[in-house]
Amino acid sequence: MRKIMLGFLAMAMFAGLAMVTRSVHAQSSAIHSARSDAMPGAIVPAEARHSLDDLFIRWPLPPGDQSYADIDGKRMHEYVVEQAAISRRYRDQGHPQFWGRVIGTSADAESANWLAEKFKRIGLSDVHLQSFDLAPQWIPQSWEITATGAGRTLHLEGTAQPAYQTPGTGPDGLDLEAVYVGTGSEADFAGRDVRGKAAFIFSMPLPGGTRPMANAEGATKRAEAKGAAAVFLIVAQPGNMRTQLYPTSTNVPTFALGMKDGYAVRDMIGEAREAPRVKIRLNVQNVPNLKTSTVWATLPGATDETVYVMAHRDGWFDAAGDNASGVATMIGLAEHYAKIPKSQRRRTMIFLGATGHHNSTNMTANDLIARKDELFAKTALLINSEHSSTLQTYLYTEGIRWANTYTAQFWYAGGPSRPKLQDIAIRAFREFGVPTYAEPDRAALPGDMSGLYRIVPGVTTSDFNTYFHTDEETPEVVPWTGLEATTRAYAKIIDDVNRLDLKDLQRPPEPAQPPLPAPAPGALAGIVPPAKAVYKLEDAFLEWPLAHGDQAYAAIDGKHLHQYVADQAAISRRYRDDGHPQFWGRIIGSSADAESAQWLAATFQQIGLSDVHLQPFDLPPQWIPQSWEITASDGGKTLRLDGSAQPAYLSVGTGPQGVDLEAVWAGTGSEADFAGRDVRGKAVFMFSVPLPGSMEQTLTLEGGLKRAEAKGAAAIFDVIALPGNMRNVLYPTGTNVPTFALGMADGYTVRELIGKAPPGQAPHVKIHLDVKRVPDMKTAFVWGTLPGATDEKIYVMAHRDGWFDASTDNASGVATMIGLAEYYAKIPKAQRRRTMIFLGLDGHHNDTRAGRNWLIAHKDEVFAKTALVINAEHTSTLQTYLYWEDIRKANTYTAQLWYAGGPTRPQLEDIAISAFREFGVTTYAEPEKAPPPGDLGPFYRFVPGVDVGDFNMYFHTDAETPETVPWTGLEATTRAYARIIDRVNKLELKDLERPEEPAPRPSAR
Ligand SMILES: [Zn+2]
Ligand SMILES: [Zn+2]
Repeated sequence: MRKIMLGFLAMAMFAGLAMVTRSVHAQSSAIHSARSDAMPGAIVPAEARHSLDDLFIRWPLPPGDQSYADIDGKRMHEYVVEQAAISRRYRDQGHPQFWGRVIGTSADAESANWLAEKFKRIGLSDVHLQSFDLAPQWIPQSWEITATGAGRTLHLEGTAQPAYQTPGTGPDGLDLEAVYVGTGSEADFAGRDVRGKAAFIFSMPLPGGTRPMANAEGATKRAEAKGAAAVFLIVAQPGNMRTQLYPTSTNVPTFALGMKDGYAVRDMIGEAREAPRVKIRLNVQNVPNLKTSTVWATLPGATDETVYVMAHRDGWFDAAGDNASGVATMIGLAEHYAKIPKSQRRRTMIFLGATGHHNSTNMTANDLIARKDELFAKTALLINSEHSSTLQTYLYTEGIRWANTYTAQFWYAGGPSRPKLQDIAIRAFREFGVPTYAEPDRAALPGDMSGLYRIVPGVTTSDFNTYFHTDEETPEVVPWTGLEATTRAYAKIIDDVNRLDLKDLQRPPEPAQPPLPAPAPGALAGIVPPAKAVYKLEDAFLEWPLAHGDQAYAAIDGKHLHQYVADQAAISRRYRDDGHPQFWGRIIGSSADAESAQWLAATFQQIGLSDVHLQPFDLPPQWIPQSWEITASDGGKTLRLDGSAQPAYLSVGTGPQGVDLEAVWAGTGSEADFAGRDVRGKAVFMFSVPLPGSMEQTLTLEGGLKRAEAKGAAAIFDVIALPGNMRNVLYPTGTNVPTFALGMADGYTVRELIGKAPPGQAPHVKIHLDVKRVPDMKTAFVWGTLPGATDEKIYVMAHRDGWFDASTDNASGVATMIGLAEYYAKIPKAQRRRTMIFLGLDGHHNDTRAGRNWLIAHKDEVFAKTALVINAEHTSTLQTYLYWEDIRKANTYTAQLWYAGGPTRPQLEDIAISAFREFGVTTYAEPEKAPPPGDLGPFYRFVPGVDVGDFNMYFHTDAETPETVPWTGLEATTRAYARIIDRVNKLELKDLERPEEPAPRPSAR
């Protein structure tokens, strides 16, 4: 029960900026690169020319909804800042390590008084505090942690944070040998004696600090069971955050540790001849006689029926998302309804500042449950306002990138027995631009509604993203736009619910534990699948409302464009089904490539473009793996791995006899993982976090693959940490032994086999990989022209190739290019200032770059008089989230990396920014210094180029199906590109052309 009550904490944080305020945002260059403690492998973006506050994309208020205009995100954001200030005062009053609006502390009391004051000022009645005595509270007083080895000493207490309820060390502290145990599985512990030592485990957040991988997979408890005297979870979030973990149920001191600090210890262990020592002193007290309170307020309505709005006040660190945002939303609703005449408020509204659950008690929720008959007899709705706005972030190389918008949210709206309420909620979310996970959750999300949803008609949305429960959960990572969207949607839900009668909403208590369906094949341990979707995904997507003045762009229709994505995926599948079941896609040089070129040329012709033709290129012999079989066996069971094992591009084959190798697990592939492991002549399996998708990963960036080879591995398997069992094609890894990506489920099966094997009886892996260099293949450019009023030019290009269905990469970009051709073909020639040239590129999913090289060689003639080159690449990608060990789909598209002409073309950049905003193209906050990896890369230095693109979880996998390309994203990006073309056509060539720019220095790292 304690686990449930502990529920969720909020997160907060603050890492290094003394006080993040709006004035800090205003220094645009500081958006996030300045504060992010970037890892060595991070590509750093260019400086933003606008503040984050100004960059946030604001959902347009629908025309009929002006009555919600008073719900103002920027004003509510002030309430977030004020609550964070309460946390910081507490921190600065002698609590520098464990701080926040911690239940029972002076910060808790200040938060209660602050909220009561807000309620009074709004004019609510019966404002009062209901006090509770608390059981003794776990409060760590102080800690110091150092690691010494390899001739240096590291101070770790800057990011080491004791897990909630972890025991202290006693005043003398501990002095322990340090040992690194990779991902913490049995295979990682094999041959490692952790008795009486400090064990360091690599742990992915799933998400944020809610459910670290090490806990989900039992690694934390495993370390303790094997005798560890202290446990450190290295939280795999680039940078160096402090993360407050929920209880880990261990009886030895257990800490979260920032990634940078964790890697420093890992390096020290890998380097040191003698094991480093870790000194730990942790003083924890259970503090008695503390108090907390529920803050109550009432807004009387026309009847004694009730609508409740509650929000927990507590949280760790700044606790800006969890849960200053929810409290701000609650206040925003109180302000909105207080202005409406009582007679027009059908029901009495009760506002509750809950004590929260970042401790072991959860006083408010328990009190509400105990008094449910009295409190909820006439309750039509309870809104639990929790984490109502969270900054959207992405892993890009080894950095966290901020987007200019908020995350999608989990949601629960009354459950299946209240379809009317669910429908009201869905409509409100769509109307005000609250993206959600595609499916509702089976029960209220972890949080204050957990105990209540069974007995009242409840609505809650929430999210736990990157910064959750960390010291970087500052007000800056709570977009005001998200506060506004969620709060407006809640108001709309309240209004619509007030049109229903109690009988439409009240139900007998629902069963406590709805039965779970059987896990899906390949599902990882412990996931709770969502409830059934209410709509098909394509019907659930949020469509950005077209502004009144932009009706001309309505002709660009996302659903229509999506058909071109499906057509291209069908080309891939025909090739697969025609004898290429393993290595398939629109592979350059193959019959699928030829079919794609013919298809595109025919489409151009249909549109009425002129001079439609193919420009063929001869290819040097192409790397094409013909077939492979891979099994793993421990002597008993034999497992097939070729369902998800995929050779990395340019991997060498095995020869016809294949190889039979001993399997060895090398954790995260660092020196510390290899310590004491003999991998010579063996098949090495390693764990790799995608950063993002398969483009870069921890193993490629940190040298794990090359390290394995240097240590003598005869084959390498890169287990890609994407829940499920996808096939991934890796870019060339630079290794000279057979190298494969392997799905996570298969990778874990092998890890388990290795972990279970008795000493000296390692499982064996048989690999046969037949790779050929196929000669005499051809590829082609596909050209189409739309003559304009002048011979000045605008290019739109898109690469045709890709692996598997290649739906995002790059059927989406080709669809966008076709959409632009269709749009402009309908406009009279006289109104098209410049000639438009559409170019289907061969692509770059091979090692020749035939077309690219030709373009570079002919750039002076090709790009003379060119006002703009749009590279349409990955124009729509499904937004997804890691939740526990599962991937959850959202009902919208990702934010995109972007580049728009660079710093010498501020006019072009502003045109692009305003077009993205106008049509709802969410982007990373900062532009890139150079275009995102792809086809604009070789050209942007001598043409005015614009490119947005994204690489998310399904990138280069067999799960990158048309379903993962939201039609809404195709529509948004394509319309924005049309807008950019139209605005660029108002500029002169001299506004756009520049002398060739210098090649950028290799990315600042
Ligand atoms: Zn919370
Ligand atoms: Zn691409």
